[in-house]
This record gives sequence, structure tokens and C-alpha cells, in this order.
Amino acid sequence: MKVEDVRKVAVIGFGTMGSGIAQVFAVAGYDVVARDVTQELVERGLNLIKGGPFGLNKAVEKGRMKREDADAALSRIKTTTNLVEAVKDADLIIEAVFENLDLKRQILKEVDENAPPHSIIASNTSTLSITALAAATKRPEKVVGMHFFNPVPVMRLVEVVKGLATSEEVAEMVRQLAVKLGKTPVLCKDVPGFVANRIAFPYLVEAMKLYEMGVASAQDIDAALKLGYNFPMGPLELIDLIGLDVTLDILETLYRETGESKFCPPTILRQMVRAGWLGRKSGRGFYTYK
Ligand code: NAD
Repeated sequence: MKVEDVRKVAVIGFGTMGSGIAQVFAVAGYDVVARDVTQELVERGLNLIKGGPFGLNKAVEKGRMKREDADAALSRIKTTTNLVEAVKDADLIIEAVFENLDLKRQILKEVDENAPPHSIIASNTSTLSITALAAATKRPEKVVGMHFFNPVPVMRLVEVVKGLATSEEVAEMVRQLAVKLGKTPVLCKDVPGFVANRIAFPYLVEAMKLYEMGVASAQDIDAALKLGYNFPMGPLELIDLIGLDVTLDILETLYRETGESKFCPPTILRQMVRAGWLGRKSGRGFYTYK
């Protein structure tokens, strides 16, 4: 399949990332079907696209998009709670459910059984093995990592991850697709954390450790990195944006896969996740949100 042949895109998992991914594809002119498990979750995803901090209304307010273009993009997004419905005529399926290998493998198996033979299956996983995900399907050569960054409408990077069985053609097609979305693709092999997370997560761990030790306040830790290194966000603000649960899942995988202590999740992170303090999405993380 050529990049021009991709018309319909299914997004499985309509949370923080799935809604952003659906939005950028719709803005680029693709027909999108998004699936989550309940009607409430589907509504939540749509509301993020409409009224979320990086959604279409904000883009119009800020003068980045015309109202009619935003409305047209929204009209291209259909939703469903039915997986078969979502994938049955999709050219590309992007999986963005929770960062859990068993769940993702189960979903990829169902997608494989119900999607047309030509379609490509991409995972937005942050750290899980694309090779292991591909092995849950009968088309491992058509399974690829398409790793967007949060918030998807804003961040330009897409890591295109080639699993052991991923074909060159599929990786190249997805690379070209990322360019069509206005993103900058980086091609990489299937190692835990790929490139960006592999480098960034030890830094996030160190920030949480200093916070846990009471070395400085969250504000001061973030200020140090923003003012000292010109980072646009501090590490603790960034974890609140990523989601503390997602951060924990990513670190658990990196630590398990590499055995390197720099990826060991700090106790404070586990405790906050247990308390339900998941960052921006729950209203409380290292900071509180309205
Ligand atoms: P999220 O919790 O916001 O969303 C996950 C969604 O998947 C939820 O809405 C959930 O209901 C849904 N889901 C669960 N099981 C499902 C199923 N069987 N069918 C359909 N939907 C199902 O999580 P997120 O932050 O959007 O992360 C999703 C994926 O993207 C993870 O693999 C994560 O590692 C990756 N990722 C996250 C970030 C980030 O900053 N949050 C960045 C890059 C990649």
C-alpha cells in the first residue's frame, strides 16, 4: 500500500493520546473512526477534541485554524464502542489503549482478525516491544510503531519504530504519513523506550527523587530546569501532563526490560498513583488543576 492509499484511519483507545491522534488525522483530511469501551469514554474523547486545551476550539480561538476547517475536521471523526465496526474498512489502525502488553496483544489480535488484509496496524506504545505486539497478529510485517508525543496536536515528533518483522515498505509508508500530518518522523529500532523516552525518563526519575527527598519544592525543581536549561516545561509539570499512571507503566517496562536502576520508579510515584493523583487528567499530581 502507498501513502496515498490511506484514506480511513481507525483509532483504538480514545484517551489523551487517541483523541489527539484522531484530531491530527482529521485535520489532515483523513476519515477517522475512534473506538473506546464505553459511550462515556467516547464522549470524553470527543470533548477533548472540541474543547480540550489543545483541541479545535482553542486552535480557532488562537487564530491557528479557521472555524470552517475545524468544523470540517470534526465532521470527519466518527466514534463507536464496537471494535469490528471501527476496523472493518480501515486502511490504518492505530492502537492507543493503556500501556499494558497483554491488553495490547489481545487488541491487536482482534484488530488483525477483523481488519482488511491490506491494512497496516500501528501502535502508539511508549515502551512496549513492537516485535512482541506484532507476534500477536498474522501480519507482523504490517505492524509498526507510530509513537506520537503529548500533546499530539502540538508536538512535532513521531518515532517510527521498526519491529524485527516490520517490512521496510511499511516503515517507509508510515514515515511518509507522519510527514503528511505535518510531523517530523524519526526512524528507530525496537528497543525499550525507543529514542526519546529512553533518554528522557532517567531525568524524570531524578526529578521525582529530589522531590521525594524534599530537596526543593515542585515549583523550584521545575524552575531550575526551565531557567537553567531553557526547557519549555519542568520535569514534574511534564509528568503531570504525561499522566502519573502512564509514567509508572513506562518506567516499569523500561526497568523490567533493561534491569537498569536509572529506570526504577520512585516510591513517591507509586504512592501518588495509588492515591489516584494521576496529574492533569485527574485534577491533581505534583500540582493541582481546576
Ligand atoms: P489514557 O489512559 O488517557 O487512554 C487510554 C484509553 O484506552 C482509555 O480511554 C481507555 O478507556 C481505552 N481503552 C482501554 N481498553 C480499551 C479497549 N479494549 N478498546 C478501546 N479502548 C480501550 O492513556 P494515554 O495517555 O492516551 O496512553 C495511551 C497509549 O499511548 C499508551 O500506550 C501510552 O504509553 C502511549 N503514550 C502516552 C503518552 C502520554 O504522554 N500520555 C505519550 C506517548 C505515548
